[in-house]
Amino acid sequence: MHRRHPWIFSGAVAKTSAGIACGDTVEVHDARGEALAVAAYSPDSQIRARVWSWDTSDTVNAEFFRSRLATALMARQRSLEFTPANAYRLVHAESDCLPGLIVDRYADKLVMQCLSCGIERWREVLADLLMELTGANGIYERSDVEVRALEGLPERNNILRGTVSEALLEIQEGDLRYYVDVRRGHKTGFYLDQRANRQKVRELAENRDVLDCFAYTGGFSIAALSGGAGSVMAIDSSGYALRLAEKNLLLNCLRPERVNWVEGDVFQTLRTLRDQDRKFDLIILDPPKFAPTAAQAQAAARGYKDINLLALKLLREQGLLVTFSCSGGIDEVLFQKIVAGAALDARATVQIVERLHQGWDHPVALNFPEGAYLKGFILRKLS
Ligand code: SAH
Repeated sequence: MHRRHPWIFSGAVAKTSAGIACGDTVEVHDARGEALAVAAYSPDSQIRARVWSWDTSDTVNAEFFRSRLATALMARQRSLEFTPANAYRLVHAESDCLPGLIVDRYADKLVMQCLSCGIERWREVLADLLMELTGANGIYERSDVEVRALEGLPERNNILRGTVSEALLEIQEGDLRYYVDVRRGHKTGFYLDQRANRQKVRELAENRDVLDCFAYTGGFSIAALSGGAGSVMAIDSSGYALRLAEKNLLLNCLRPERVNWVEGDVFQTLRTLRDQDRKFDLIILDPPKFAPTAAQAQAAARGYKDINLLALKLLREQGLLVTFSCSGGIDEVLFQKIVAGAALDARATVQIVERLHQGWDHPVALNFPEGAYLKGFILRKLS
């Protein structure tokens, strides 16, 4: 508590008042009875309470949320002047002092994700405030994630305010455009956290043979092609995602003959490519979360090592590997060790050229290190 981490675990709670329910605002006291914080109560969750404020004179009401949302919006205004994109994260939960709330902007629509009892309680109020403060004309709710079950909350996937057409939304990042399926897509529809990293890939891609693993709707593939890639092979197990990637290619008037979409398992396909002695100049590895928590880190480490080892074997000398982990259970130090192990086993001499992270619109509160989930490296294979 003294570190002001916003989560209060069940084991730290000695007693609770009678009659408090999911989402209620509670005052948190230390062992001596001193008031420490106001928080939202989650009776079913291991995270028994999430702190709204360390100032116990704060009243948690609509005005409180108006102020928190306004702060999050203001924090983005300045950066947006330098980011020619109309899609970005508006609220990054704990790191924006709004535990359990994700809000992403896609042009004139918002997608909202409510991950905790506290946010669930204030959902309607938050939706009204968001419409008012952002000028958006529709909010789609994507509260259909597994963590809601840990809070005892049902899943929800529907329009919350205004209109959100059945058609795909279209967003802009610089001079590139992407379709986003907010109803069926991963997360809230698009990997906004990789925006700056897509730009990096674009800058590195000229005349290179590119392999985009876990391509989803083609974020990195489109960036590479627009950067002048000689060829792109994009692998994903989801045919639906690849069809959207193909639409994204056409949306950007890029030449389809330079792309090979491969619907398949990355682990399997990398082995096949190795057996065929195929080589690439630039490989991107952006897998799904192998380890959501530290408990799964060991099994996840094997998965990361496997794909990184295979990718290093498929790289030409002087080739680049852009490799990511978005697993909360694996920090940057561990990820670097895993990748180093892969290089050792691949008998490759490899250097880190650059360290990559989630974009500026996914800030990390210093009292909430869990907020730093995305880490990556640009690696160069020397020999
Ligand atoms: N790089 C993407 C995001 C990747 S999300 C972007 O920047 O937009 C992870 C993707 O991996 C999903 O599209 C999912 O369908 C795919 N996937 C998960 N497991 C896979 C596997 N074993 N083989 C191939 N694709 C897989």
